[in-house]
Amino acid sequence: MPFAQVALPLPLRHTFTYRVPDALSARIEPGVPVEVPFRGRARRGVVVEWTATSDREDALDLSAVLGPPLFDAHLLQLTRWMAEYYLAPWGEVLAAALPGGPSGMPASRGRKSAAGIEERALALPLPEPFTLTPEQRAASHALETSVRRRAFAPILLHGVTASGKTEVYLRGAAAARDTGGQTLVLVPEVALGSQLVREFRRRFRNRVGVLHSYLGIAERRRNWELARRGALDVVVGARSAVFAPLPKLRLIVVDEEHEPAYKQNEQLRYHGRDTAVRRAQMLGIAVVLGSATPSLESLANARRGKYAHLVLSRRVDRRPMPQVRIVDLRREGGTSQLSLPLRAALAERLARGEQVVLFLNRRGHSHHVQCRACGFVPRCPWCDIALTLHLVPRAWRCHYCDHDAAAAAACPACGSRLLRYSGAGTQRAERELRATVPAARLLRLDTDVARAGGTDEVLERFGSGAADVLLGTQMVAKGLDFPRVTLVGVLDADVALHLPDFRAAERTFQLLVQVSGRSGRGSRAGEVLVQTSTPEHPAIAAAVAHDDRAFVERELAERKEAGYPPHARLVTLLFSGADALEVERAATRAAEMLRQEAESAGVRVLGPAPQPLARLRGKHRWHVMLKGPRGAEVRRHAARALDWAESTERPRGVRVVADVDPVDVL
Ligand SMILES: [Zn+2]
Ligand SMILES: [Zn+2]
Repeated sequence: MPFAQVALPLPLRHTFTYRVPDALSARIEPGVPVEVPFRGRARRGVVVEWTATSDREDALDLSAVLGPPLFDAHLLQLTRWMAEYYLAPWGEVLAAALPGGPSGMPASRGRKSAAGIEERALALPLPEPFTLTPEQRAASHALETSVRRRAFAPILLHGVTASGKTEVYLRGAAAARDTGGQTLVLVPEVALGSQLVREFRRRFRNRVGVLHSYLGIAERRRNWELARRGALDVVVGARSAVFAPLPKLRLIVVDEEHEPAYKQNEQLRYHGRDTAVRRAQMLGIAVVLGSATPSLESLANARRGKYAHLVLSRRVDRRPMPQVRIVDLRREGGTSQLSLPLRAALAERLARGEQVVLFLNRRGHSHHVQCRACGFVPRCPWCDIALTLHLVPRAWRCHYCDHDAAAAAACPACGSRLLRYSGAGTQRAERELRATVPAARLLRLDTDVARAGGTDEVLERFGSGAADVLLGTQMVAKGLDFPRVTLVGVLDADVALHLPDFRAAERTFQLLVQVSGRSGRGSRAGEVLVQTSTPEHPAIAAAVAHDDRAFVERELAERKEAGYPPHARLVTLLFSGADALEVERAATRAAEMLRQEAESAGVRVLGPAPQPLARLRGKHRWHVMLKGPRGAEVRRHAARALDWAESTERPRGVRVVADVDPVDVL
């Protein structure tokens, strides 16, 4: 009687052996979903391997086969690599790889027709003849050649904003299709109406499928099925689309490769871009990472010759880069969000009927609320964080767990009415704008608007010219292409600069360059005003001067000095639980256990320490950071702590997970 190795979505990093009853043996093969008994309960998992014999005499019988295989040999290999690399249970990786995420494990798989997507395919005109810039032509040629060669070819496409990266992707995808192959396009966030999706639909018609988290599970499964049958030439999706079943995959595009959204920071902590590169390597195909502000990791790979480096240094149609001007807030005085130079520039654009984007990376009204009489600060009862004042609806709100409390007019501690509000967010900027330029038609876009389902409507209205000013958080910094925008105002460039995170400067630089890139994309020249209290900071100075080389040189040198990526590799061990003392004890124990052996192998063990956000949603949080020049060695030591956390010696009531290559150390 044969045996099956089953991966279960449980926090245990090994597979489980089950006996296959004769009645089921004909249907068992790697990749099939099955039901098995586990500690007295029925559980769903995936068969990853089957063997004729096993030394597990006590193995239980597998209870049911739930359908045909969900994963082919390649996807099993990819998910297995992820489980090993990210120190995660294979079963959890497989669950995350299903079209509906962990809830997508089917009882039986629907086999609906694929009619829906064809009917909804847009009938758009054929593309107009397009003249490429010499740089675009060279980049397209290099990409097409790599696609046809059918060998692993990682390419960094480094193109300034509005340099026409999409056109290069489209030509690469056309080359893939012409050789009978498919293209996977990853984007940080999918908006169905986004320019990228529109362009792909225009060229590939109904052979484009979008995998979208707000499509229902049934529809996502249908697109999954179409992709699997080879009925789609191009699949566009966010991070988890990296798992899309594409039997003839020839090219992977990772657009805006620097975006932190590619890293999943909950449940399975994996990086979509890095997984895409690995997938391309396993398949022996081309993968192109595109960005105007590449991550330091990708730039370092290009410098070392691991990635080909294609550069688009000019905008299309000879459009100039926008003029960037600094407004030094230290000389402005007052508490207004709108400096005099910004007001003047705003008035000028409004008079000319042009559009303006204003960027402030903080939502809500005021971030710091404090009683001037007694010093009271309203705090979240579940998280170690001060609450933010929101006006619509009026509440003190936690930006981590969304807890809210009635926003009192008087101090809840001493009754004084001297509450001080500082640290302006988008809601306060909106109020000030309405008071300053009452005639301007204003739209706001931030997480609060997005949660109410308003994103597409706001972007559509702004795009149609029904508004003059779009004010928003980083949602307005990314990829938007509105040709009538000639002014971008950055209300506070310093918001993210001083966070206790080694990537703070890189993030600030990227955001400033990206949001500046929204200006002057049409026939009229663009301008950018950057309000800052630290104009001399290298990240701000380099963004203003369009001098990414200066920033990158300096930042790489600093990372090397401090031993941070890309010069070192990091794994963070995260400990969380309801009991503060138990969590601290577990973290201390793990650090002690690892330290000697790790440090003699050149891996530094930092901590234990409370995480910067020491309590989140009621859970206490500590971490231990491992750092060393070689990733495999750092992971090997982190795995020892996880082995302990999964053993019978494990700390009770404390969850221990690893974050390999963390992008956010807050
Ligand atoms: Zn008070
Ligand atoms: Zn909270």
